[in-house]
This record gives sequence, C-alpha cells and structure tokens, in this order.
Amino acid sequence: MTDISTHFDYQAPANLLEDKVILITGSSEGIGRAAALSFAKHGASVILHGRNVGRLETLYDEIIAAGGKQPAIMSADLQTANYEDFMVWQNSIGTEFGRLDGLLHNAGQLGRINPISSCLTSDWDKVMQVNVNAQFMLTKAMLPLLEESAAGSILFTSSSVGRKGRANWSAYSVSKFATEGMMQVLADDLENISNIRVNSINPGATNTAMRRMAYPGEVATSNPEPESILGTYLYLMGDDSKGISGQAFNAQKPKP
Ligand code: NDP
Repeated sequence: MTDISTHFDYQAPANLLEDKVILITGSSEGIGRAAALSFAKHGASVILHGRNVGRLETLYDEIIAAGGKQPAIMSADLQTANYEDFMVWQNSIGTEFGRLDGLLHNAGQLGRINPISSCLTSDWDKVMQVNVNAQFMLTKAMLPLLEESAAGSILFTSSSVGRKGRANWSAYSVSKFATEGMMQVLADDLENISNIRVNSINPGATNTAMRRMAYPGEVATSNPEPESILGTYLYLMGDDSKGISGQAFNAQKPKP
C-alpha cells in the first residue's frame, strides 16, 4: 500500500519537469495559475487553459519573463466545448509537441450552495457539464497523446466534499464524487496496459476566488495561498511518482 501522506513537504528538484509537456485546465487564476507558473519554473512546457484570454496572456508573459519555455494557450469554455473541440486540441498539441506528459484537470465550477431540494436542474447541469462531462471528453481526447509519453500523469482535482458528502454542497459535491470515480475507473482501465498514472488531489481550503465565493464570511487570508500548496502537485507530475496510480491525495496536511 502506498504511503500517500508523505508528500506535503515534497522538495522538487529544479529540473523536475524538464522536457515535460503539461496541460493545466483553469490556469487563468487561482490554483491552476500557480501550478502553471510552478510547472514552468521546474522546466515544463505548459499549455494554459481558461476562458479569460487576457489573463492567460498575462500569465504567458510572466512565464517567459521568468525564463520559462514558451507556453501554449488553449482557450475554451468548458460549459459549451464538445468532443470535436477537444479533438482539435489533440491535433494542435500533437502537431506542436508530439505528446502530452501531464494533464491537470483543475478548472471547476462551484455552482450555488444550497440543498439538493432547492438546486435548479439548470444549475445542476452546468456544474456537471464543467466538472464531469468536459473532464471526461478532454481526458478521452488527450489519452492518445499521453500514451506517447514515457510516463504520463493525469491528475484530477477533487475536494473534501468529493470524499464525504456535506449538506448544501449539492451538485458541486456530487461532481467531485464523480471525479473521484472517474479517477478510480480510469486508473483501473489503464493498470498493466499503459504507462499513464491517474490520481486525484484535494487542494484543501486555499485562498482563491472560488473559496472566497463559497465562504464569504471567512477571513480570506486565514487560508494558504495557492503557491504554498503545490508540493504534492509537483510530486504527482514528476517522475518521482511513477507507478503510483488510483490514489486520492491531499495537498495539505490535515489540521490537528
Ligand atoms: P478559481 O475559481 O480561482 O479558478 C477556477 C479556474 O477554472 C479559473 O482559471 C477559471 O478560468 C476556470 N474555469 C471555471 N469555469 C470554467 C469554464 N466554464 N470553462 C473554462 N474554464 C473555467 O478556483 P480554484 O483555484 O479555487 O479551484 C481550482 C480547483 O480546485 C477547482 O476544481 C476547485 O473545485 C478545487 N478546489 C478548490 C478549493 C479551494 O479552497 N480553493 C478547495 C477544494 C477544491 P476562467 O475564469 O478564465 O474561465
């Protein structure tokens, strides 16, 4: 049994992700942005994704200014993108890079915080489309490129409410349970037939726009900044985690 509790303080070598090509969904802000900057700093060519092209371009410039490899930008609204759109990505990434070494599914929609009895079916559909259906379609489209990698890593983003249900978390919570399920099923599908590993990560309370929206009464700065929770993300994207698959990780140590 793998000990998954030892990676909170993982110290990544400076060249951990040298020559890796990593796609990060939802990298225009929050955790995805911090992850993209960190992956680029550790040598990766990063493919940035989000809806807000202005923010993605700013991030692109920041990565170049910091001496990182030239990123790529794939803008799309996961609410409306369909499988054919992701096949266009497959074609572009294949043409530009020839493979994909890492896929961080990070983009997410919170939806409304309310009990299931009050959840509008349209809100339910929106959250499921972004947090589950788009993830499935993007994963399916990227698998052939990940198979071209010597050690591909798919990392799904979960939540504490994706591991234990909590009142009022409605579609978001159920979508994160589905995400954990997708991780487990895909990891099992690929076991023994592929070099691709598949895991999930729960970032834990982190000071981002989504957290501030979910907890408006909270002192935002009481939560860690995205830059400070990335040890496990780096571990799971780098070759030190080769062979580890089907596991549910936490990015932060549980509070005593
Ligand atoms: P933010 O709201 O700060 O960032 C979300 C990112 O997802 C943005 O880059 C946004 O880009 C992108 N995104 C959202 N909706 C869409 C869409 N329809 N199409 C394309 N991109 C979209 O969130 P966090 O950084 O807080 O969250 C990152 C992940 O971590 C999420 O999966 C979240 O559920 C999870 N998480 C976060 C926690 C926290 O405390 N922050 C705790 C537990 C889990 P743009 O606006 O440009 O489209």
